[in-house]
Amino acid sequence: MTTTASIELTLKDISAGRTQGAMCSSDLVDAPWDVDASPGYGPGASTADPIPAAAPRQGEIPQEYRDASDAQLRERIVAAKARLGERVVLLGHHYQRVEVVEHADYIGDSFMLAQAALDHPEAEAIVFCGVHFMAETADILSSPDQAVLLPNLAAGCSMADMATIDQVEDCWEQLAQLWGTEPDASGKVPVIPVTYMNSSAAIKGFCGRNGGIVCTSSNAEVVLSWAFERGHRVLFFPDQHLGRNTAIDMGIDPEAMPLWNPRRPLGNNTAEALEDSRVILWQGFCSVHKRFTTAQIAAARAQNPEVRVIVHPECPRETVAAADESGSTAYITKAIESAAEPTSFAIGTEINLVKRLAAEHPQHTITCLDPVVCPCSTMYRIHPGYIAWVLEALLAGEVVNRISVDAEVAAPARVALDRMLAAKPRI
Ligand code: SF4
Repeated sequence: MTTTASIELTLKDISAGRTQGAMCSSDLVDAPWDVDASPGYGPGASTADPIPAAAPRQGEIPQEYRDASDAQLRERIVAAKARLGERVVLLGHHYQRVEVVEHADYIGDSFMLAQAALDHPEAEAIVFCGVHFMAETADILSSPDQAVLLPNLAAGCSMADMATIDQVEDCWEQLAQLWGTEPDASGKVPVIPVTYMNSSAAIKGFCGRNGGIVCTSSNAEVVLSWAFERGHRVLFFPDQHLGRNTAIDMGIDPEAMPLWNPRRPLGNNTAEALEDSRVILWQGFCSVHKRFTTAQIAAARAQNPEVRVIVHPECPRETVAAADESGSTAYITKAIESAAEPTSFAIGTEINLVKRLAAEHPQHTITCLDPVVCPCSTMYRIHPGYIAWVLEALLAGEVVNRISVDAEVAAPARVALDRMLAAKPRI
């Protein structure tokens, strides 16, 4: 892996004036332990999102990790991993900084990584370099004697936090008052809840308890088809864009997709609009993917009319419609890997993945659609200093930052995840 993929170094170079470029927050060059001490998600694409009061914060880690140089941290992580051997598996999400994924045993999306954890029943600890809901999913799927560790507890997900279990339960009650919950003569229930993988374990559990299911960005269409076989409508949360993009691609009229605002009665809709709906979209979004626009696509094409534009389905509808293709991180990665001829790609997804793909495929020209360097602020909370701390604590017999999902939540959440697998996974 070349250092040209390093967002950390790119940000430092821009900040010092060694490189041209722009970043969305100058605080991005600060050490994460300085940022973690203040409220909010930290600098990066989620800066402006309101953080729930109960969101976990990371306590202070020992000074030695904060003072260590990049090279010292790398050495300590490599040495600790070597000593731990099969006792630990380190998972790195696609959106992690290169200084983190270089230590990963597996790199992938959230579900691929949870499955990788399943392949290692011998590991007593799974160090999940991703965000909170991913560690929860790995805990649900792994065996009870395995500990899933999130190196920085402040690594949440602002999109997942946009749907709380109380809000979802309240929404469900209002819909039940309109239509009840029993199936009609056709055997279909009024509404099936579908949650994106990017949601809390409590919400996955809610879906498991209420005839619902989980989806990923790779299998959302398969899962929606599963839901429409069982219900007249779908309640989709928390990402409105993935829900809308998938449903439109399935031929559903956008007029039949009211937006649910959890702070308003009936989600700010009329009972008639809800009655006529096919997909009720929760008013959530990803602050990273929301940044990609049709103007950026026009600029990329003005610069190179041959450019191949691929965006993630968490992007707004107009951006997805203007792109050449859209798909999950797995789709984007495969599209680049399988391009036989040198190609120019403009990619609409998180900058760490785009930079890494560019470094790994020098035969292609791969750029991020957004010229401003703006990583996912919560993914960026994971830093080698925290990983060294977690691994060395394990060596000392101490388990820190364990993510445990209560059994009464985990059991129905597992039901919703198993329904997804049985629906016909494409992951
Ligand atoms: S990229 Fe978006 S959905 Fe993914 S962790 Fe960051 S805020 Fe959440």
